[in-house]
Amino acid sequence: MRESWHERFAESPDVLKSAWRQQTVVPILDLEIGADEFITMAGPCSVETEFQLMATANHVRRAGARILRGGAFKPRSSPYAFQGLGLEGLKILARAREESGLAIVTEVMSEEDVPMVAEYADILQIGTRNMENYALLEAAARSGRPILLKRGMVATIADFLRSAQIILDCGNPNVILCERGIRTFETAMRNTFDAAAIALLKQISHLPVIGDPSHAAGHRELVPALARIAVAAGADGIIVEVHPNPDEAWSDGEQSLDFAGFDSMMRELKPWLALRDQAGTSEAEPMEAAR
Ligand code: PEP
Ligand code: MN
Repeated sequence: MRESWHERFAESPDVLKSAWRQQTVVPILDLEIGADEFITMAGPCSVETEFQLMATANHVRRAGARILRGGAFKPRSSPYAFQGLGLEGLKILARAREESGLAIVTEVMSEEDVPMVAEYADILQIGTRNMENYALLEAAARSGRPILLKRGMVATIADFLRSAQIILDCGNPNVILCERGIRTFETAMRNTFDAAAIALLKQISHLPVIGDPSHAAGHRELVPALARIAVAAGADGIIVEVHPNPDEAWSDGEQSLDFAGFDSMMRELKPWLALRDQAGTSEAEPMEAAR
């Protein structure tokens, strides 16, 4: 890593690569994030009903997803919009986990909810609106669960790394960084997908990095292309919204893929993932030879 990045991000020293720490691997049940396998997390924006979540879990698992997403506590832009099922949503997630074998990632929105959400979730998601809620970051970190930290929609990379540093400072090494799009002057998409941030984070940080094409795009037609871009930028995985009937979804239907859309996204990703694997092998070769 160039020395200047060290200077630029000097406030977040533990997040940066060093001679003794090149890549953190976050273990989740039987899988690893940040290792060789590209990890797809998929599921609805919100948990709505048991039927909706089970159908989605079973479908995305068969199509290759490794982790099930679904919000029980929803940070909505409008106070009158659906706020999530809360504890009932967590219980539905636990049943889906049992039935499908998939690990669960779900958002925790407040410090007081951390113990309850941590009881049900394999990964705690910190949403874009809470990236700088330091009390929440500390409470989530101390739960001991791995943390999926979403980049604030108006956060610089330095801000993002500072929040990750706080989690590491609390003694929790299992942080996954998520680029989910930032606010720019462009309004055609819900956010602007900062693919360069993924490339930079992969160069400077040892933490796993994933992309969220759904919240970046805001339109389901763009999700497969942004997923491919995430692979090309070097991401360790993606988190994608999928719903059995997106037009009827209680939140984020516009950007949610239906089952057929998810299948074709996964199919279209395959050649890009094969290229990624090849690049990984050729990068490893000089080291093999040097041994
Ligand atoms: C979500 O994952 O549904 C969500 C609310 O994400 P973000 O915090 O990135 O908007
Ligand atoms: Mn959503």
